[in-house]
Amino acid sequence: MKTFSFLWAAVLLAPILSVCAEEVTEDVPMPPPALSIAYPYPKARLPGITNLCCLGAVDGTNGLLTVNGAAVPIHRTGAFLTMVPVKPGTNTITAAWGTNVLVRSVVVASVEIAKPLGARPDRIVHPMPPRDPYKDLGIPTNAVFEVSPPRGKMISDILVMVDPGHGGDDPGAFSPHMLPEKDVNLMQARAIRDELRRAGFKVVMTRDDDVTMPLYDRPKSAWRLKADAFISVHHNATAPQTDPRQSRHITSYGSNARGMPLARAIQKHLGRTLAPIPDMGAQLKSLAVCRNPAVASCLLEVDFINLPDGEEASWDPSRHTQVAKAVVMGVLDWLMEK
Ligand SMILES: [Zn+2]
Repeated sequence: MKTFSFLWAAVLLAPILSVCAEEVTEDVPMPPPALSIAYPYPKARLPGITNLCCLGAVDGTNGLLTVNGAAVPIHRTGAFLTMVPVKPGTNTITAAWGTNVLVRSVVVASVEIAKPLGARPDRIVHPMPPRDPYKDLGIPTNAVFEVSPPRGKMISDILVMVDPGHGGDDPGAFSPHMLPEKDVNLMQARAIRDELRRAGFKVVMTRDDDVTMPLYDRPKSAWRLKADAFISVHHNATAPQTDPRQSRHITSYGSNARGMPLARAIQKHLGRTLAPIPDMGAQLKSLAVCRNPAVASCLLEVDFINLPDGEEASWDPSRHTQVAKAVVMGVLDWLMEK
């Protein structure tokens, strides 16, 4: 969901990394020069930061990678994630690697370890901020909406819209290998579409290709097509100043009384299916695609793609099917609710 805000680091490092890549492909086997990163960038002020998160990916998993002199374990996919203590002022982070490893990407993010990850259970703690969802979505205020969940409809008459988040010019978050969220959202959404169809539902997708799609067009098209349910599929990335090692979890969002029951029903099955990844429950959050007053709408954050384990799981086709089956069970549960 969250756009990775540390791309500047990757962009800045790209030329350096490409130089290093050329050097390690020489015939003479010698270690490439170490990569030094100054952090924060000149004149940036980041009070309270005690650690940096350094993550990325390498080719070759049995070589040596060190960051500030400490060996960094390399995930079987080639991804790595390590924490680097820093002091106020400019710090230099030095990554070095042997001839068996070629560094593909390094992203540096600030992390305040002392700040705990807040527990957000499935209950409404604060009222929603006042907001007119009709204004944002362009749905007439005098519209008459169907009962939700639908009553007395055959499954074959129930229309579910599946929305692969981002697309085209909007890549979403990035994994350690710099794979974009938009691609994995589409793969996962197609699996959900296929399983829903197998269960007898009518299904449409907001996009079935790598195309740019304005955010508000998504809920609007669900309303125009009179969809009964709208499911937006996303993958998460850790926020700045959270310790990524403690951040992996599964959650679903709803933004109103129509969407929350759907989010809760799906999240119940997602949490069970993806255990032992921590289940943060369904949460209330004001999201453009979920504020639809006409269509029960929810947004799923299936996993964290910027974590090595999350990246590996998120690109696994068998996991896509598992998640898709959980979503179908959730939709069926939601339909049974009174
Ligand atoms: Zn997203």
